[in-house]
Amino acid sequence: MLNLVLFGPPGAGKGTQSNLLIDKYNLVHLSTGDILRGEIAAGTALGMKAKTLMDRGDLVPDEVVIGMISSKLDNNPTAKGFIFDGFPRTAAQATALDNLLAEKGTAISAMLSLKVEDEELIRRLLERGKNSGREDDKNEEIIANRIQEYNNKTAPLKEFYAAQNKLSEIEGIGSISDIAEKLNEVIDSI
Ligand code: ADP
Repeated sequence: MLNLVLFGPPGAGKGTQSNLLIDKYNLVHLSTGDILRGEIAAGTALGMKAKTLMDRGDLVPDEVVIGMISSKLDNNPTAKGFIFDGFPRTAAQATALDNLLAEKGTAISAMLSLKVEDEELIRRLLERGKNSGREDDKNEEIIANRIQEYNNKTAPLKEFYAAQNKLSEIEGIGSISDIAEKLNEVIDSI
């Protein structure tokens, strides 16, 4: 199986690049952000609980997102591979993911980490916020909180995957197709 973690701060372009990769490599896209927004739209208890945290730019509890990913893995027994987008975001999530995949006799193939500096992230997210309808894209204070959550809890996961020799860092500035090309090169070399 080809199991990729697409990694990077909010606004790095993970969603955009995931959509290109799922077509090219025939993978199932698992975005915890999208799944959570689906729960909110459906008005579930989980969604209502998550919304307050998400609107502030805080992370949702580990056990919630780990449970979501676990059931998505179970629901896709014939997948050729997965792209994890926005997951894992904490050390506990990364460990849980390794265990879930090991139970299925597979593992993460690579972490592709998109690098974009903070100023550009803020610019992109505010621009997206004009149309996304996302509360967490609307003001700079919330965006700054998301970036801070990323720097404190999520960025250290690069070390986790580097220790397994699975980390590749890719410049996330440039045209969408140039960045896609660089991602393809890394994946094709796995
Ligand atoms: P972005 O990466 O642009 O911030 P996402 O759509 O990935 O956006 O996530 C939006 C919000 O959903 C996060 O700020 C967080 O509140 C919640 N969330 C998504 N994935 C996770 C996760 N793996 N762990 C905890 N919270 C998450």
